[in-house]
Amino acid sequence: MHSLTVLYPVYPLSIKQNAFHSLTVSNPATGDLVSDTIPVAGDADVDTAVRYATAAFAHNAPWRQFAGVDRASVMLRFADLLEKHRDELARLTRLTLGAPAFGKAEVDTAIGQFRYYAGWADKVAGQSFPADGGLYKIVRNEPLGVVAGIIPWNSPIASTGLKAAPALATGNVFILKPSEKTPLAAAALGKLVLEAGFPPGVFQVVQGDGSTGALFASHPDVAKISFTGSIGTGKAIQIMAANSNLKRVTLELGGKSPAVVFDDANLENAVEWCVNGLTTNSGQICFAATRLYVQAGIFPRFLEAYRSALEAKAKAVGHPQDAGTQVGPVVDKVQYERINSINSIIHTATSERSGELLIGGPGDRPKGYYIEPTIFTNTKDDAFIYREEIFGPVAVLNQFEDEAEIVQRSNNSKYGLMAGVFTQDINRALRISSAIDSGVVGVNCISTIHPSTPFGGTKESGVGRECGEYALRAYTEPKTVLINVTY
Ligand code: NAD
Repeated sequence: MHSLTVLYPVYPLSIKQNAFHSLTVSNPATGDLVSDTIPVAGDADVDTAVRYATAAFAHNAPWRQFAGVDRASVMLRFADLLEKHRDELARLTRLTLGAPAFGKAEVDTAIGQFRYYAGWADKVAGQSFPADGGLYKIVRNEPLGVVAGIIPWNSPIASTGLKAAPALATGNVFILKPSEKTPLAAAALGKLVLEAGFPPGVFQVVQGDGSTGALFASHPDVAKISFTGSIGTGKAIQIMAANSNLKRVTLELGGKSPAVVFDDANLENAVEWCVNGLTTNSGQICFAATRLYVQAGIFPRFLEAYRSALEAKAKAVGHPQDAGTQVGPVVDKVQYERINSINSIIHTATSERSGELLIGGPGDRPKGYYIEPTIFTNTKDDAFIYREEIFGPVAVLNQFEDEAEIVQRSNNSKYGLMAGVFTQDINRALRISSAIDSGVVGVNCISTIHPSTPFGGTKESGVGRECGEYALRAYTEPKTVLINVTY
């Protein structure tokens, strides 16, 4: 059972990689090979990219002469280009991710981020203080320099927007290291970067796997890593950052988000959010609604409505290109076998009776990596399916009696990314949203974010925040200038 927790490769802290190797990506809908020729950047490539980026950040380089409005206009052009090529970018992502409708929605997230942060580019002000004690004080918020964004496979273009947009708006230079599982759409960005008018070296894409990410995380000339991915990799990156040059780190990590449904909730609304929060992108979303707690009085009605809504979704599991498909495959064979094969999470939970299987369960399709929505009820609190992020369409559904119990159970988790509270009592909604330990709490909604408000996790769900004005802090460093006015 414990071996299931070792899911992600963690590379040595310092890695020299000279032999050429390439990425192999397949279509999860069929298992067919898509490409095995995308090169993995090694230490010389990473050095070159960082050198270009450093030159692009030099004081006399064109990017440093751009006023805020100039940065904004390049970013807005880039957003327009993303919009123009939305279908093609979504298609490229779908080829190796699956994701029927989500593919386009995640490009929209990136477009929104570039437009939102373009608005900030000429508004990041500093402070000034009077000349008390003979010193006039100015505080400037200055860019950090070379920022590397290391992103996961589940939302390649959205994750790019969440990191590149605030970094570039504040005058940094940015290098994207996409995931080895969904590299295609990111590869197409290079052309759009040039067309938008970013000066050379300001916004680069470097393909590779975890070894490439590790090279960036331990590079002495990278000022910051903005990372989204698993907890294990996030911790490794923090260590590499500390051991190299104490580079700044933002970590957006996993979740096991509780949805708490009270007796007085609007049943239809709660079911709709909980179902969509589990099935969008086949549950491969960090803030998926995967831990459901329903109050005793509404539990039987919720269970029936949730089951029948998920049965309808199960009928719409299919090839991502087919009209009518709502739930596609999971990303690849590794993820499929981890969740659904013999010795997998679902199989083990079923055979060990970690809970009662309500819907779904171990299944097999001749082709492709499809998993039907799977729900366990009355799960044991120490079961793997209850405690750990599964990153597939698998959730647990349990009953609760009162507020005190549900606050304690919701918070009894190493994760703190998102929670949802469903009730029509505003006082209770505010009480619970304050008591729950997580970065975001939805009231009568879950598994969603907004571009203008901070998004990120408490506890092991991460360090720092993305989105909104708050994220600008992560890409700037205050510099104090003290002016002696006494002589
Ligand atoms: P992952 O940690 O395996 O990989 C993420 C990225 O890190 C990839 O680009 C990978 O190549 C790179 N990487 C791997 N090992 C590395 C190392 N040692 N040094 C540097 N880089 C390394 O995660 P994943 O499987 O791609 O994504 C799934 C995870 O991401 C889930 O846990 C999910 O919850 C999380 N996620 C979080 C958010 C969020 O905003 N909080 C959003 C999406 C996904």
